[in-house]
Amino acid sequence: MRTLTGTGVTPLSGLGRVVWYADEVELGDPPDPSEIDADAERARLEDARSTAEADLESERERAEERVGEEEAEVFGAHVQFLNDPQLREDIEDAIEEGLPAEHAVREGFSGPIEQFEGMEGRMAERADDLRDVRDRLLRVLTDAGGTDLANLPEGSILLAERLTPSDTAKLDPERVAGFATVLGGRTSHAAIFARSLGLPAVVGVGDDLQDIEEGAELVVDGEAGEVIADPDESVRERAATIREVEIRRERVETADGRGIEVAANLGTLAELEGAVEQGADGVGLFRTEFLFLDRESPPDEDEQYETYREALSAFPDGRVVVRTLDVGGDKPIPYLDLPESENPFLGERGIRRSLGPDSELFESQLRALLRAAAGEGSLAVMFPLVSTVEELESAIEAVERVADDLEREGVEHAVPELGVMVETPGAVFVAEELAARVDFLSIGTNDLAQYVMAAARDDDRVADLHDPLHPPVLRAIARSVEAAHANDAWIGMCGEMAGDPALTELLVGLGLDELSMSAVTIPDVKAGVAESETDAAAALAKEALESPTKHAVTNLVDQ
Ligand code: PEP
Ligand code: MG
Repeated sequence: MRTLTGTGVTPLSGLGRVVWYADEVELGDPPDPSEIDADAERARLEDARSTAEADLESERERAEERVGEEEAEVFGAHVQFLNDPQLREDIEDAIEEGLPAEHAVREGFSGPIEQFEGMEGRMAERADDLRDVRDRLLRVLTDAGGTDLANLPEGSILLAERLTPSDTAKLDPERVAGFATVLGGRTSHAAIFARSLGLPAVVGVGDDLQDIEEGAELVVDGEAGEVIADPDESVRERAATIREVEIRRERVETADGRGIEVAANLGTLAELEGAVEQGADGVGLFRTEFLFLDRESPPDEDEQYETYREALSAFPDGRVVVRTLDVGGDKPIPYLDLPESENPFLGERGIRRSLGPDSELFESQLRALLRAAAGEGSLAVMFPLVSTVEELESAIEAVERVADDLEREGVEHAVPELGVMVETPGAVFVAEELAARVDFLSIGTNDLAQYVMAAARDDDRVADLHDPLHPPVLRAIARSVEAAHANDAWIGMCGEMAGDPALTELLVGLGLDELSMSAVTIPDVKAGVAESETDAAAALAKEALESPTKHAVTNLVDQ
């Protein structure tokens, strides 16, 4: 066996045979400029652009059906790139200088692609979108076929240097057993699509992936972030059986009767069905920033209202926790004009923007939420990246103002349960005061680990430090749980840690009341809760909290 590691995207495993993606369009050297008829090349370019635009439109429709409307919006963004006036001008200039259309396209896109590649986080991933549009044009211009992604042989594991969003959206989960890429990060669109499609996937494996040959048998373990070549019998079996877990639609309790809510994290409504199917008790984190991504302007109050109502109607007996807009950090949104920042994770993000430059958006979101809360179902609203009591008080005042406005306007509304994310050290140290002012806290371990350990969540070089099993993070969690319970608030966890079935007993022992995760891990976590004994779990948590190192904690958990 040979194991390569990367970033796991979905906590699923798949076993299959390797198909390498041939997407490169080889252009060769351009002919002599004297042989080029600029008018003819411009006409070829225009034809190719129309064909590409028509293809994009039909792919958008297909993606809407498969992955959901908001995510399919990325194809709208591609149409915009295709028609971007600056890009058009650059390509036409290159034709004017004597290049044939395909070489001019390659030249015209090279500058903007390099520019995006030089940026951080999500902006860097926009380079993927540009490459996608460029290659689409090149394929039309050169008649290059490439791999037919929509019709891969059944049981394929797709390997690629990188996958673009439209590549990923073409994959048919019924036929594809998973994919792995040399490049790419956790927040790339390819990763987001993979999660929505429920595809096992590992990205950012590095150049070693290139050694794996076409047709080889391969396991993609999205949970461990591993790609395993020549898997032995036990690894093959594990990969083949992981989907067959028992789905528990009922709420679960520990073996000695302590109820723990197991909920789903959602980015878009397309994930709602999966959440219900996997037996979620409700939604523990609706990341509403996904509603604002890849479009030209924010969704208005009514559109948001409809979205929140739809989520609520999927869980008539469960709670739906909607988080207000959390932009900034690694989640920029072009039309919001976010400031350039050397250090965006420590800059204006989350509630800081909602109480500052995005206050109007915050107000319209709160209006939509308070209106949605008046209908059936149980809505809760929480605020991201709070680090002071003042921020929480201002957010609560905004809710009260919106409630007064709606009352005055005679619009039906209700004030939902309110909560705060605990994802900064500041919030941990004032958790008592925060808990006293709200109904619940929810621990975001993705950010909490990065801020407690001073290790960026998107930097592979410090991935080992960015781990919630380091004692400082565990102790921050324990402190928050104690503070919540001492102030009659319930406390959940919605960071990635909550969805790791290997940690369920530890989290039960730490006293969490709710665990929220991507839908695919719900069955395993529910099983883990049902198997736990409160006393044994508490003893495990106590020992973990007394451990000096992550190594010691890992050993304990592994036992
Ligand atoms: C977290 O930080 O753990 C969290 C759940 O929020 P996000 O990953 O959206 O920042
Ligand atoms: Mg966060």
